[in-house]
Amino acid sequence: MSTPCSKCGKPAVYLRRYTMEQLCKSCLVKTTQLRVQKTINKGKMLREDDRIAVAISGGKDSAVLLEILVQIEKDYPRTELAPLTIDEGIKGYRDRALEAARELCSKLDLALEVRTFKDLFGHSLDWIVENRENSSTGACSYCGVLRRQALNTAALEIEADVVVTGHNLDDEAQTVVMNVMRGDSRRIARTNRSQEFPIPGLVPRAKPIKELSERDIVAYAYYLHLPYHDVTCPYAEEAYRNDIRTFLNEMEHKRPGTLLAILRSGDAIAEIYELLPQVARIHKCVSCGMPTSKKICKACSLLAEFGG
Ligand SMILES: [Zn+2]
Ligand SMILES: [Zn+2]
Repeated sequence: MSTPCSKCGKPAVYLRRYTMEQLCKSCLVKTTQLRVQKTINKGKMLREDDRIAVAISGGKDSAVLLEILVQIEKDYPRTELAPLTIDEGIKGYRDRALEAARELCSKLDLALEVRTFKDLFGHSLDWIVENRENSSTGACSYCGVLRRQALNTAALEIEADVVVTGHNLDDEAQTVVMNVMRGDSRRIARTNRSQEFPIPGLVPRAKPIKELSERDIVAYAYYLHLPYHDVTCPYAEEAYRNDIRTFLNEMEHKRPGTLLAILRSGDAIAEIYELLPQVARIHKCVSCGMPTSKKICKACSLLAEFGG
């Protein structure tokens, strides 16, 4: 005897722990989409005529993000979805993820835009890692800064109004706790900047699936047979994040709803910082023209090591 779905009484296949709902496949899909719709509405993330660049990594999070947006945007015919992949040039990893991204887009009948680090910056990440002078600057430091820049440049090029990324609840809660534990709560505001306070030259970012747990996402991708590539990046150096993940997963297991509570606290902190007058003046990088608080942006100063 299987447990009945809390919504419709059919046999349940999934327990959503933080709401304690037993769900059948179709109610799992419906409630997940509804949850994302609510996050979008509450955060005023998208408008009815937005051209939406969807950052696609090839992994499960962005696969679920894109599939759900396709469903939601059926009700908003004036919006446009533009899936976009940044190919950093990581052999054996990104190339295979890119295949999954292409498969996903063809399944959803969308054209995928791809921009490479090589085209945008002259070098692939593999090349940068091999040729860096100071190996204490980790691969992720280069990649993080350059990805951010690449995504913005590509979004400007395709004239997107907003860039959406597949950060999930687990990612976001970990980031909030990491920033708090490093004594850097101001960073929470920077990573959560809302569309209501735009910076010229920076395409606004939004995270529509930030209230979906990783477990929900895995279940959703599984039941809808979404193609994705689930391998950790060979350069991943996230020991600190892994500690926080283990700790938060334990807390979430003991007290379901912990992750969501942390996310809400992060949002509240971000709101307070947004109300404060901007300390740093934003102007254009003298080298590439991208918005920055310094004379030369972070991407350009990292690339200077390699002769620009
Ligand atoms: Zn049901
Ligand atoms: Zn620059």
